[in-house]
This record gives sequence, structure tokens and C-alpha cells, in this order.
Amino acid sequence: MTLRKKARTKFVKYLGKQFRDDKTLLQVYSRDMAELPSTTKILIKNIPDGIILPRNIEEVQQAYKVANETKVPLIPRSAGTSGFGGSVPYKKGVILDGKGIESEIIVEPFDQSVLVSPSMVFSELQRYLKMQGVSLCVFPSSYYSATLGGFIGHGGYGVGSAQYGGALDQILAIEVVLPNGELVNYTEREDIELIVGSNGTLGLITKVQLKIKFDIPLKHRGCTFDSPKELVEGLKVLSGINPYSIWILNPKHVSEMNDTFGFTLPNRYVVLISKEVSYEEEESEFHASFNQAIRDGGGQILDKRYTDKIWDIRYKTFTMIKEYQDFLVSELILPIETSGKYLQKLASQFNGQLHFEGEVINDSHFSLLLFLYFDEKLTPLKKTIINLKLYKTVMKGKKSGGFPYSTGLWFAGYYSKIFGKEQYKRYREFKKKVDPKNISNPGKVVSPKLRIFPLITFKFALKIASWLIR
Ligand SMILES: Cc1cc2nc3c(=O)[nH]c(=O)nc-3n(C[C@H](O)[C@H](O)[C@H](O)COP(=O)(O)OP(=O)(O)OC[C@H]3O[C@@H](n4cnc5c(N)ncnc54)[C@H](O)[C@@H]3O)c2cc1C
Repeated sequence: MTLRKKARTKFVKYLGKQFRDDKTLLQVYSRDMAELPSTTKILIKNIPDGIILPRNIEEVQQAYKVANETKVPLIPRSAGTSGFGGSVPYKKGVILDGKGIESEIIVEPFDQSVLVSPSMVFSELQRYLKMQGVSLCVFPSSYYSATLGGFIGHGGYGVGSAQYGGALDQILAIEVVLPNGELVNYTEREDIELIVGSNGTLGLITKVQLKIKFDIPLKHRGCTFDSPKELVEGLKVLSGINPYSIWILNPKHVSEMNDTFGFTLPNRYVVLISKEVSYEEEESEFHASFNQAIRDGGGQILDKRYTDKIWDIRYKTFTMIKEYQDFLVSELILPIETSGKYLQKLASQFNGQLHFEGEVINDSHFSLLLFLYFDEKLTPLKKTIINLKLYKTVMKGKKSGGFPYSTGLWFAGYYSKIFGKEQYKRYREFKKKVDPKNISNPGKVVSPKLRIFPLITFKFALKIASWLIR
């Protein structure tokens, strides 16, 4: 226990049993989906000093009050399934775990909205909504474990984004406890957009009203492409048929899926297109426009017997991780139009061992989740080197107009690349106003200075380190 005694006493006094600091629990909260290599621990103090599990808004406000008084960082966290380090401490501090916040679900089928606590896991909320004939519009593929709070916090996209947009586009209203303890409820897009993707640096989201839709059945079609160039040409045409989702898998990932799920998919780039279809004519139109798109854009139509099977494992592809001793992940967003060369280069990187899956997120961009699996547990040095290579691979996407998916720990300093300079300026001004002591999740949007070389930012250090390795 390293929290100063005075600070710890205050947390215990105001939060009672909701404040915990037993060693095992602290270890559990010291990572997210991606484990930090131990070599980075000279720079990153990722083991928290304590955990707060607030049950209601008053306890969140108490937590921020004590944090401000004691200048101890508070790190908002939900399920910890993100891999950007957003919910992992950079310089110790206390984790504010929103999962225990009392939950309520108010469905308004006629207004097509649901008011809910962000602590809800996607699959639980969706089960509840489906019983009433309605549905969420968009889900991350971590549907069975991720919460709404974390999805909004890191500014996610997911299945359904091609039609319904990203996290920001789902929100009608959002309630947040700001770092100064004030409880606010935003309904204007220009306020909401500052919270989405702010990685908990602007406080803890405590309630959210989301758009919902009728639960319309999906129909799926699949196709394959021989090369990244053909894939990109195909995506351009396919995104024109207004699909619900376009899911992309590279050959390495396809062959892994064949092994894990017993499929016999061809070893090419596989694309699954899904569309909401309410009646027969609409279904016929979908098939006709899909067939036409393949004639125009190239590619081979995948036998229909595969497509429903692929959809059934849509939220299970990470089942493959459990076969391996170690893994590394990273993610970026790329423009469809200009990403051919980048995808071509990816195919030869990491000795052809790089897996990826992508999701079209609007009519011009797609997200790309890159991952590497290892049969052995990597040594800390090897893990650091490969991690840096992966980081460099994401950065090379910038040449094709790409940018990191979210800031978090690894991509702090890239907010303006993701959201634009004007929004970054507004973010900085707002942050200064509501969090002058930089209490809420420091280092997750603006890159922090290194403790050991205070003139250098973490972003710069990562850049240099990644360019030094070959
Ligand atoms: C198999 C797999 C598939 C994935 N697929 C997708 C995908 O399709 N799309 C996608 O976007 N992501 C995806 N992810 C990443 C991640 O799972 C999601 O973004 C998820 O929504 C994060 O939710 P979480 O509850 O785990 O949040 P956490 O990881 O706990 O937090 C994420 C960020 O949000 C902040 N935060 C958490 N809760 C709050 C809150 N209440 N208020 C304010 N800030 C908060 C944290 O500080 C952190 O910066 C995937 C991950 C895995 C493992």
C-alpha cells in the first residue's frame, strides 16, 4: 500500500467499504485486455493504490471530492476489455470502477430510446430489449463482456456502424459526474462529443439515453477477394448498398477460424455483408444489389451455406486467443479509398503472422483490429519489441490517411488526429475548466511527461523507441 496515509484515511472515511486496497485486487486492476510488458514499468506505474466501487452518484461525487483534496488521480473503468490502456493507471492513483452503479432500464419504444446505466453489459441490455421487440443499433464485438460506459468512454464503433454510426451517434442524452464533482446532463451533440472518446478524462458517465430501433432480422451474404487491392475495390462498391455491417477477415485469420470452428473457408480475404431485411422484396433487392456489386467490384461470391455460420461466431472470434500462451493487439481506422497499399504491406509484415479483422464504420472508413498470437509466453524484452513494432505498424497507417482508433495510454497525444483540431481545442478548454488539477485519468488524452525525463512526453518516447527497432 503506497497511498499516503492521510489520503487513504480520507478515502476510507468518505467511501467506507466501497474503497478497497487488498493486493490481489490491485493486481487485477493493473491491466486491461492487453498485459503491459514488465519493461514498461520504469515509465508506467500501472498498479493502482486503491479501487472504489461506487453504488450511486453521491459516492462518485465523494470520490472526486477526496481525489481533488488529496490530488490522487482517479481512473474511470468498466469491464477493462479495451486494449489501449485507457483504464490502466499511468502514474498510480485510484480506480473508479463504474460497474456497480445501480442499474435501471427505461425503454420508450415509441420514442425509440432506452435510458440505462452505463454499467450494463451489451449482451444483457440487448437480451432485455429483444424481449420487447426492439434492439440496440450498434454493438462492439466484445458484446458479451463490454459495457456501454467503456464503449462510449473510448469512442467505439462496432457491428451496425456502417448503417447507424459510432458511439456518438447512438446517444440522445448523457449524464456525467465531472471531475469537479458537478453532475451534468448533456443533450446537445457539441457537448456529448466531448465526452465520447475522452477516455474518462472528463469524469464518470453515470447514465445514458440511447437510440434504439425495431428488431429487424438480418440477412447475410459473403464474398472473397484474392488481394488487398481487390478487397479495397470490393469494399468501395459494397459500402454503396447501404449494409448494416461489413466484416472483413484476412487470410491468416480465416485459416485460424477454420482450425478453431471447423470451417472450410477459402484461404483468401473474406467479407461478410449483413443487411436489415423486413420483407421478401427487400431481401430480393439485397441479393440483386449484392450480386451486382460483386460483378462491378470483382471478388468471388461465397457459398451461402457458409454465411450464417460465420455470422453465428461474430462475437466469438477471440475464442481463438485461448489456444495461445500470449497475444498482442492494436487497432486503427483507415480510409477505404487509399488503404490498398497499406493492406498490401501488412500481408508481409511479422512473417505473414499478422491476423486482422475489420469493420466498415461509415461509407468512407473501416476499423482494423490487428493481432498476433504466440505459442510461447513472451519474455518481457521480446514482448516490448514486438509491441513497439505493432505500434509502428499502426503509425504507418497515417501515410494512407489512417489514424489510431482511440487515445488511451498508447495513443495519448493523437486526439486531434482522431477528432480534429477544433474539437481538441474545445476539449482542452473544457478539461482546464472542470479538472484544473488533472485528477481524472491523467495521461489518456494529452500525452504525459515522463517521470524520469520530464522534458520528454510518453508519445515522443514511444515514437523514438519504435523507430529505433527494426
Ligand atoms: C474480443 C474483443 C472485441 C472488441 N471489439 C470491439 C469493437 O467491435 N468495437 C470497439 O469499439 N471496441 C472493441 N473492443 C474494445 C473494447 O472491448 C470495447 O471498446 C468496450 O466497449 C470497452 O468497454 P469496457 O467496459 O471494457 O471499458 P474499459 O476497457 O473499462 O474502458 C475503456 C475506456 O473507457 C473509460 N471508461 C470506462 N467506463 C467509463 C465511464 N463509466 N465513464 C467514463 N469513462 C469510462 C476508461 O477510462 C477507458 O479509457 C473489443 C475488445 C475485445 C477484447
